Amino acid sequence: MLIMVLLVVTPLALLGFWSMERKAPVITHDLSEPAIGKTPRQITIEIAERGQGLKSAGALISQEGREVPLDAVQFEGSVLMFGSGIETHQMALTIDPAQIGLTDGEAILRIVASDYYWRNWWNGNQTVVDIPLTIDSKPPSIAVLSRLHYVNQGGCGLVIYRLNESCPRHGVLVGDRFFPGHPAGGGDPAVMLAFFAVGYDQRPDTAVRAQAVDRAGNEALAGFGCRIRPKRFRKDVLNISDRFIEQKVRPLLETSGDTPTEPLDVFLAVNRDMRKSNSETFSALADQTSSAIAWEGTFMRLPKAANRAQFADHRVYKYRGSVVDRQVHLGADLASLQQAPVPAANHGQVVFADNVGIYGNTVVIDHGLGIFSLYSHLSSITVQAGDKVSKGDNIGRTGTTGLAVGDHLHFGMMVHNTLVNPIEWWDAHWIKDNIAKKLELVR
Ligand SMILES: [Zn+2]
Repeated sequence: MLIMVLLVVTPLALLGFWSMERKAPVITHDLSEPAIGKTPRQITIEIAERGQGLKSAGALISQEGREVPLDAVQFEGSVLMFGSGIETHQMALTIDPAQIGLTDGEAILRIVASDYYWRNWWNGNQTVVDIPLTIDSKPPSIAVLSRLHYVNQGGCGLVIYRLNESCPRHGVLVGDRFFPGHPAGGGDPAVMLAFFAVGYDQRPDTAVRAQAVDRAGNEALAGFGCRIRPKRFRKDVLNISDRFIEQKVRPLLETSGDTPTEPLDVFLAVNRDMRKSNSETFSALADQTSSAIAWEGTFMRLPKAANRAQFADHRVYKYRGSVVDRQVHLGADLASLQQAPVPAANHGQVVFADNVGIYGNTVVIDHGLGIFSLYSHLSSITVQAGDKVSKGDNIGRTGTTGLAVGDHLHFGMMVHNTLVNPIEWWDAHWIKDNIAKKLELVR
């Protein structure tokens, strides 16, 4: 009797289970750009199955009627019993057009997976995914349109170029630092421009090249005759007293919890470590730039202000007679009256208004296409992130917040993520010769 029940119930139960299996295997892949270039491309395929398990999986690439298998696997199992029990499978494919013999043009990557469902005459559910691909072995071409690129060490340059195809990544490489380019906004949508900077710490023989990488990953590099003028920077020795450390430096650490006790450790935790993390806060703003130039004419300098420190002053810090630290000052210090009103140097949008370590209360304004101005040590801030400002609008007042001795404005200019000498942006001649004349090529 028991045997009879089992015989009757078991096949019914199995059939019931089988009939629930209506879901074919699900195929996903990580190919973000359906274009393959000269460099072999890795693609990961994920196959997920809910039910009796996978029976087979495979991948092939076809072009003009020719099919090349890339991978094929069969899974042991029984359609009458419990299938294979395999619920997931991953295929790591390498597509190397030269090795497979693909020519430039269209191709199709086909992924097939089947399961152990009894339907379709025991062939199971089958999923077929076709991914149309573009095979493109040719690098993009970059035609540099602007001429005479003279850039100061620690300064900024502008290059204008035309691309022959749309490229997800293009811009300027200064050594290994990348400055993204943007559509120039003239009549020709293929014309791009890129502001770039030569760091104060990059040598005059640093390679400066335009770079473009197309959708298929093909890279083009184009040199464009850029001369880097060496600059001499000032040296400064600062003697650090215990009084300064206790009154000005230690309070900056108080919010961070884990405060060292030795005065020298306190100084280094701020002057070296906090300085580094603060500059990363500014670099991280680079991608928030808007896609059009908002600024016009020269940048405003804090009115009636004396220059207390210059860009790239090399500072040597002495404590109890020995050199304990070296840092470079990446802005201009301008001193006017106490709590002098600070004007926005040019039109733009506030992207940052907050307290930031050694810089104290700081405002950062984006002027578009990677150009930013920074205002630090403010006693008060009258704008907030998101505000649009015009040249001369009040954004706050000078002060001594952060690591400032005496009321002043620390003013910085940043190109993408690199701080540059603000003096260029205050100079009508420099702007005319290096920026405005090149921008005329766009119009
Ligand atoms: Zn400063």
